[in-house]
Amino acid sequence: MKKKASLEEAQRLLLEQAVTVGEYRVPLAAAAGKVLSQNVFAPMKLPPFDRSPLDGYAMRAIDIRQASVAKPVALRVVEEVRAGFVASQIVKSGCAVKIMTGAPIPAGADVVIPFEEVEYSANVVYIEEVYASGSNIVYAGEDVAKGELVARKGTVVTPALLGLLAALGVEPIPVYKSINVALLSTGDELVEPPHPLEPGEIYNSNLHSLRAYCQMLGAKTVVQNTASDEEEAITDRLQEALSQADLVVTTGGVSVGDYDLLPVALKRLGAKVLFQGLALKPGSPAMAAVFQGKPILALSGNPAAALIVFELLGMPLLKQMLGRKTVLPQRFSATLADDFSKSSSQRRFVRVCLEQQGTQMYAKLVGSQSNGALQSMAACNALLDVPEGSGPLPAGCVLEAVLTSRFV
Ligand code: AMP
Ligand code: MG
Repeated sequence: MKKKASLEEAQRLLLEQAVTVGEYRVPLAAAAGKVLSQNVFAPMKLPPFDRSPLDGYAMRAIDIRQASVAKPVALRVVEEVRAGFVASQIVKSGCAVKIMTGAPIPAGADVVIPFEEVEYSANVVYIEEVYASGSNIVYAGEDVAKGELVARKGTVVTPALLGLLAALGVEPIPVYKSINVALLSTGDELVEPPHPLEPGEIYNSNLHSLRAYCQMLGAKTVVQNTASDEEEAITDRLQEALSQADLVVTTGGVSVGDYDLLPVALKRLGAKVLFQGLALKPGSPAMAAVFQGKPILALSGNPAAALIVFELLGMPLLKQMLGRKTVLPQRFSATLADDFSKSSSQRRFVRVCLEQQGTQMYAKLVGSQSNGALQSMAACNALLDVPEGSGPLPAGCVLEAVLTSRFV
């Protein structure tokens, strides 16, 4: 029997095939969730001018160097400046300018004192305390210097990054093009909801989960007609899928049953097999191939197995094809909250809910761990990585877990 690939080996083999499909520029309004295709350097400094971070009075620190409660310094308020405007005069000795949050510091002033800290009457402000030059001034370029690298190629455009790009006046934004993912389900038993089920039929659930993963990342999907369990039907559908997409994900038909014809169809097509079989549970029959530069990830039809392997291999592959630089699932240490009674001759990914209690992260088992169980898959937020050769695991042992994908 052929040696099964380790998860890391499978990830490496697949990611070697993962290339982006081009770049373009989009308006700020369309950039959220996309991936930067170029490093972005600041075209201007931020803030663009010295500004007041509060409502108060701008003045010269030297004028108030001897201020005290017993002997307040009186300054004449000569002008008011608010955000969006510029003071018309230079602040001279003995004078102050009333200033609002966000307004530019008037020339000549080098300190701002908040309203709450002063006494005020009839155009005169009284200062009772010494403030050092520079107090309460946000200097131009303090946040971002002109020319500074603010975001690297491969970074996902988050709400905060969008704000930064907008604040710098960057528009449009260079991003990678989205990819087309063809989704192909195989199996004579599959029916689309809500069509009534005949005896022996089941609803096609994998398609909907896989499409949602793609949507989550902003990838486009092309759904192929479900292929019956016949070599020719599968080969035809695979060919169709490859002609329409940058990447193909299939489910079903990869095990060793009489009607598991996906490996045969892939070979018949002339696709180069990257690996056949994974050294982990669930989902060990999964395989991957490449045809004319396009990766094909073939998953077991068992829903939990399909989704777990998609989390571990499919998501990194999609992310890299979309241009992201961080693609592998995040790993956390977690303390097992319950006894896990099974031994694991193979590496095993166990559905758990990570919950923080105090400073400790606990992993709680979430129901049936069978290959086909969907309820526990929907309930979990992480997969506990149980090493090959583990015996039954008592509560309290510490293992690593990978987070499963969420929309938020
Ligand atoms: P297979 O990998 O084709 O041997 O299928 C393994 C199990 O998963 C069988 O019980 C199938 O009925 C089920 N299955 C296959 N494809 C799907 C699908 N798209 N949605 C839900 N269950 C599926
Ligand atoms: Mg099948």
